[in-house]
Amino acid sequence: MSAGRLLDACLDLVLSRACVGCQVLGTSLCPTCWAAMNQQVDFHSMGSTWPVATGSRYQDQTKAVIIAHKEHGVRSLTGPLGILLARAIATLTCGPTLLVTIPPHRRSLRSRGSDTTLQIAHRAARALSQVNQPSQVQQLLTRRIDNGKQVGRSAAQRHSAIAGTLEARQKQIVNLQRFSGYRIIVVDDVITTGATTFEAVRALEVAGVNIAGVAAVAGTPHRSWPPTP
Ligand SMILES: [Zn+2]
Repeated sequence: MSAGRLLDACLDLVLSRACVGCQVLGTSLCPTCWAAMNQQVDFHSMGSTWPVATGSRYQDQTKAVIIAHKEHGVRSLTGPLGILLARAIATLTCGPTLLVTIPPHRRSLRSRGSDTTLQIAHRAARALSQVNQPSQVQQLLTRRIDNGKQVGRSAAQRHSAIAGTLEARQKQIVNLQRFSGYRIIVVDDVITTGATTFEAVRALEVAGVNIAGVAAVAGTPHRSWPPTP
């Protein structure tokens, strides 16, 4: 067992002796809950030229697993979440793929101790590469302004508060020439209002980056996108 897997196993013993979806003892995610999460990829129209795919719906077991991974440090869930993200990405493109993550808020990064979405993206890239879809993760974006999380705000309020907060990292943009032939997918853990996603794509397009699509582990069902400014 690798050191990373051993650490995951130890953390699970401390943090989660039961399935985070149904509390059955013995594992952090039981086969029944995994099957419920791993149903279908949803496609969304965001009123844009790029397609959006989500690997699961942000409810029930999926919501519990994402929160356990992100807020409670159950890192053994990175694998299943990476698989869901990989499935969403594979519906958008099948060739060499560059996964671009959205940087976390500084306060979130401090409290969690790591960029959990980045971890999921790396796991997704590994899963895709294993099925002959060469994939890499690049962090092309940075937060120009950090307004903090937008929990509790309406879609329109989020859209307004987030506009202009992200920008492309010029050095990484220049290095993109190394990835000629790769299609670029913006990835996130959850898409709720879509405001953050819009801002990420806007910042990349301003820098001349051509986006092939957006993928997330999960999306909030029955949302009307794009957000109304
Ligand atoms: Zn379960």
